[in-house]
This record gives sequence, structure tokens and C-alpha cells, in this order.
Amino acid sequence: MALKQITTTMNLITILLLSSAAAFAPFTPLKAAGVSSTSSTLKMVADDAKVILVTGSSRGLGKAIALDLGKAGQKVVINYVSDGSKEAAEGTVEEIKASGGDAIAIQADSSDPAAIKDMFSQVVDAFGTCDVLVNNAGITKDGLVARMKPANWQAVIDVNLSGVFYCTQAFFKVASKKRTGRIINISSVVGQIGNPGQANYAAAKGGVIALTKSNAKEFATRNVTVNCVCPGFIASDMTAALSEEYLEKVSSGIPLKRLGKPEEVAGMTRFLALDPACDYITGHTFNVDGGIAIGV
Ligand code: NAP
Repeated sequence: MALKQITTTMNLITILLLSSAAAFAPFTPLKAAGVSSTSSTLKMVADDAKVILVTGSSRGLGKAIALDLGKAGQKVVINYVSDGSKEAAEGTVEEIKASGGDAIAIQADSSDPAAIKDMFSQVVDAFGTCDVLVNNAGITKDGLVARMKPANWQAVIDVNLSGVFYCTQAFFKVASKKRTGRIINISSVVGQIGNPGQANYAAAKGGVIALTKSNAKEFATRNVTVNCVCPGFIASDMTAALSEEYLEKVSSGIPLKRLGKPEEVAGMTRFLALDPACDYITGHTFNVDGGIAIGV
């Protein structure tokens, strides 16, 4: 990316953070689908371990969610899209195995229905089923509406909304036959309260909340629950690049006066994925945002 473009992007992000203290994920380029996987060898997982697919879990919140579930003794599928993330994904697989869970990594573009179908076949081949889907993969391509290119609108809708739909569809084929399953969609406070410069992201994330409710109603007869997590401003690779002084300014706009931690989003996701109480919770949205969205 040219220096000028990076500077412009950072300026825009700075304006956006100051305007709402909302959350942003760093830009991630789309790559053509290609599927490969590592093999699973560990046999230390609990007898009642669930098979949990976390899309976009090579880094960021997805990685924290996958590690948390792995440490809880679950069988986790690490999904990623970029060739450059293969090593990181396989590293996470090893970390999970070392902590008592089991895992495999699969490269697949979550916005490509054929690649997703293939990924679910690989999951069933490796682990026999899929019990929980965490739709986490997401990208940003920020820009003011007046200047937003159609390709940047479409790319964010494709990954952040259509990808959730395609993965859900493929997961439901497996879960509906068993008459049990849980889906957790990672949305964002931006999908609830909007954000200047993120029309594409807000529309996609708001769509995910609506999709959660609709799917919860549609899937209830098959005992498949669907819930949503809305993170606020979470410490990430991108925020690590910002100055301490700047981050203090952002935090001052958050009721709890600090950024969230990926582990806090992971904790909520684990609850929705595994806790027996969640057998009777569906169609709802849970914020992990330090209070940003209070009053919405
Ligand atoms: P991140 O660090 O940029 O990681 C994004 C992950 O998604 C990576 O694993 C990436 O894989 C994967 N991904 C991107 N496009 C994909 C595709 N087409 N198919 C499969 N995987 C794909 O993002 P993050 O900050 O952790 O955000 C994770 C989720 O939380 C997103 O849905 C985001 O919108 C949401 N969220 C984040 C924040 C925050 O503050 N960070 C706040 C609210 C909501 P590669 O490594 O292969 O590129």
C-alpha cells in the first residue's frame, strides 16, 4: 500500500475513532479461494468435546476465540483466507493441541460458497460432524459515502454479510439433521449505532444482527440456536500501532474507560457456544463494548 494511501487511511480511522470510539478491524485483502488443511493427531480432548468452526481465526478476535475454546478441551477448526496466514493458523493449531484441545486449520474464503461447502466436508471428514459455528471473519474498507468505490462497498458486504450467510447455510445442513447446533455471529457496535466512514461495514454488521434474528426463528424447530456478539473497541494489531496518548483519548469516550480485550469477546463467545444455559437463548445480541452502545 502506498504511503499516501496509508496516511489517508490512518487519518480517516483517527477521525472515526474520535467521533464514536467504535471498533475497527484492520484492512485484510481478499484472496482467491484455496483449501488445504493440517492433520489432527491429538486424542486428549474431553469425551463431550464439541466441534467448533471459527471463521477468520488465524489472528485477532478469531484467534483469541479459537484458543479459548481449545483450552476448554474442544475440537476447533481454524479458518483463514490469506496464504500469508498459513503459518499463524498452524501455530494456533499446535497451541490448542498443547493446551488439551484438538484442532485443524483450513484455508477457505468465507465469501465463496463453493469453498465453504468444501471446508465443511473437510471438517466432517476430520471430526465427524460440526456442532458450533462462530462467524467471525471480517474486513474493513473504510471511506466516506461520497467517495466510496462500489468495489469497496461490495467486498465488505461479501465477506461480512454474505460470508455469514454462506457459512450458516452450510453449517445448518449438518446441524439440522442432528437437531442440535449453535451459531454465534460476531457483529459490531457499528452495526447498532452506525459510524461515519463505515457505511459498508455498518450495513453488513447491522445485516448480521437482522440475519441472527431471522435465522433464530427459522432454525428453532431444529433446535439450532443463533446469537450475536457485538464487540466495541477491542485492542488489536491495529490499535497496537497507535500512540499511548491517542489510545487514552479513545478510552476516555468509553464508559468503562479502556479498550476491550480479545479474551473478553472470547469469554462471551465461549458462554454462547458451550454453556448449558444457552440452550434456551436464541436470536439475541450481546455487547462486549465497555458500555459504548448504552442507550441504543
Ligand atoms: P483481523 O485481526 O483483521 O482478523 C480478521 C480475520 O478474518 C483473519 O483471520 C482473516 O484471515 C479472516 N478473514 C478475512 N477475510 C476472510 C475471508 N474472506 N474468509 C476467511 N477468513 C477471512 O480482525 P479482528 O479485528 O480480529 O475482527 C474479527 C471480527 O470481529 C470481525 O468480524 C470484525 O468485524 C469484528 N469486530 C472487531 C472489532 C475490533 O475492535 N477488532 C470490533 C468489533 C467487531 P487472514 O489472516 O487469512 O487474512
